[in-house]
Amino acid sequence: MPIRVGCLGGGQLGRMLALAGYPLGLRFTFLDPGEDSSAGQVAQQLVGDYDDPLLLQRLGETSDLVTFEFESVPEASATLLEARGPVFPPPIALRVGQDRVLEKQLFARLGIASASYAVVGGAEDLPGAWTAVASASRLKSRRLGYDGHGQFRVTEPRELERGWAEIGGVAAILEQEVPFDRELSIIGVRSGEGDTTFYPLTENHHLDAVLRCSLAPAPDSAGLQGQAELICARLMDALDYRGVLAVELFQVGEELLANEIAPRVHNSGHWTQDGAVTSQFESHLRAGLGWPMGSTQALGKSVMINVLGRLPDPAGLLAIPGVHLHLYGKAERPGRKLGHLNVVGDDGSQVTSSALEAATLMGVKLPTPRYGDSFWPN
Ligand code: AMP
Repeated sequence: MPIRVGCLGGGQLGRMLALAGYPLGLRFTFLDPGEDSSAGQVAQQLVGDYDDPLLLQRLGETSDLVTFEFESVPEASATLLEARGPVFPPPIALRVGQDRVLEKQLFARLGIASASYAVVGGAEDLPGAWTAVASASRLKSRRLGYDGHGQFRVTEPRELERGWAEIGGVAAILEQEVPFDRELSIIGVRSGEGDTTFYPLTENHHLDAVLRCSLAPAPDSAGLQGQAELICARLMDALDYRGVLAVELFQVGEELLANEIAPRVHNSGHWTQDGAVTSQFESHLRAGLGWPMGSTQALGKSVMINVLGRLPDPAGLLAIPGVHLHLYGKAERPGRKLGHLNVVGDDGSQVTSSALEAATLMGVKLPTPRYGDSFWPN
């Protein structure tokens, strides 16, 4: 009898979990409100809300263990399922990941540096929060913010009111703007026994707070890897974590500040599908199942580029050396994540040149290579 994995959320992350799990003999059922979801195209799907008690019951009955691929699923749904069988990562990670204040408090408790902030419970707290932070800031909704939604940049006190309206007048934090050198992320894997392993740091480039591309391993990051692993390990241990955890980081000089956690497989880890011995999707499943963890070692150098809004011509992209395409089965819509491509190879210059060619074909702008014709030093 194959092992049946249930998953809350049926987006592209779920789809890629299923695609990684089939070779291991796993079966999948997704719960997602959208008809024809990305994961539903490749696996069984229950269509309905994440808190529908009947559907949760069905998901529980048809699954030997349950995970989630969307950090906004209600913690209560994960907890309900946990009463029937194993759920990974632990539902507490959802609670922390969904609430910027709890997240900040956890960072502080674990001695993890992050940007200073003030809690904004209502509009009346805005002036005091500004005085406390006293610099250019980000007003971020306390809950359910992702990919820059629910976030507003404030440079002067008179912008606070507008920011408050823009984020929808909901509980928020005002967070000091970090003059970071670059954005990085670390993806860790923790088994039920507490063993941990980490992928190499990834360098991430955003536009309008949406990830555009990632470089892995992050160039010039050998001296930061240990620091990042320590941050991720502390968080995973504190949450008694099982599965893959992503931590988004700001690099300021030689210091790393934690921005936020994602208790799931993460866009900045997509390069691992083609650029690491074991993908983050397989690692997540193996950790959840209590199976031996795979190697997280990189297989050369990788560039991941997101496909946003418009579908590219696959043939044109696949003609470029080292390109692997991953489309999510979604219809075009401005700004929507429709897929990504990974460019992988041993030679940094070759990978860079292929990535630039692919980006040109897609009308995407990549960062300028830091080392002449390569993103990486020799
Ligand atoms: P978040 O939703 O917190 O991941 O923010 C999305 C993006 O906004 C980040 O990846 C950064 O590019 C930017 N950002 C968020 N918070 C800050 C901050 N405190 N200072 C500077 N940039 C930020």
